[in-house]
Amino acid sequence: MIKFSDVSKTFTIGKRQVHAVQDVSLEVSEGDIFGIIGFSGAGKSTLLRLVNQLERPTKGSVFIRDIDISKLSAKQLRKQRSQIGMIFQNFNLLTSRNVAGNIAYPLKVAGYNKHEIKERVTELLEFVGLSDKAKDYPEQLSGGQKQRVGIARALASSPEILICDEATSALDPETTQDILRLLKKVNRELGVTILLITHEMHVIQSICNKVAVMESGRVIESGPVFDVFTNPKHTTTRRFIQSVQ
Ligand code: ATP
Ligand code: MG
Repeated sequence: MIKFSDVSKTFTIGKRQVHAVQDVSLEVSEGDIFGIIGFSGAGKSTLLRLVNQLERPTKGSVFIRDIDISKLSAKQLRKQRSQIGMIFQNFNLLTSRNVAGNIAYPLKVAGYNKHEIKERVTELLEFVGLSDKAKDYPEQLSGGQKQRVGIARALASSPEILICDEATSALDPETTQDILRLLKKVNRELGVTILLITHEMHVIQSICNKVAVMESGRVIESGPVFDVFTNPKHTTTRRFIQSVQ
């Protein structure tokens, strides 16, 4: 469903080059909850940003359903982007809009009419368990509730793929588990393929079926979570495993 084919991304800052992602080849299948783990600066966020074309690869291609997304026209790209939802560590909610307004926002931009928007927002609020918070503003919500709004907003356009950049890193352990349960429900009930990045091994253990370990821009090992955990080949992977024991 998502395929990285020998992808590299290099940033040039003055005379310095940063090889954020190097020669990554990886396949995410439909229905996966695919986790990417790595220490700070490993290139995880850059890899995600290549999926929704917030970054363009310096080398290689990213395919979504066999379509090379770097070759799309602006119009095709807009359509492609609406099939990918994204959630963030700091939630990125609009502070001037209430919960319903935040979830409605992408639907308004996409040109849905008022009635359609109202119906969809009601459905999404129910799905994420926030039906009683529609009129609250982000500042009145807990971190976990804010992330539920983030998830509802990301799902508004019925995406096939949800990408999560450290979506639970700002949350306490119990709230993290609540959000992970909700992501599992998104995957199971809506059939959304999830690509998530984290530096916390327990997040991978809780919900992912596959994992890739990144270091210095490279994927150093990947496979089914069980296989990678029971037979880690790389010291960095062992360090992550030790961090949860
Ligand atoms: P963290 O866990 O801290 O979020 P990460 O694994 O997400 O780290 P990235 O944000 O992908 O890492 O960054 C990988 C490398 O690329 C880092 O060295 C970073 O400084 C660099 N980098 C990322 N984005 C840019 C940019 N827009 N311009 C220049 N360098 C960048
Ligand atoms: Mg990051």
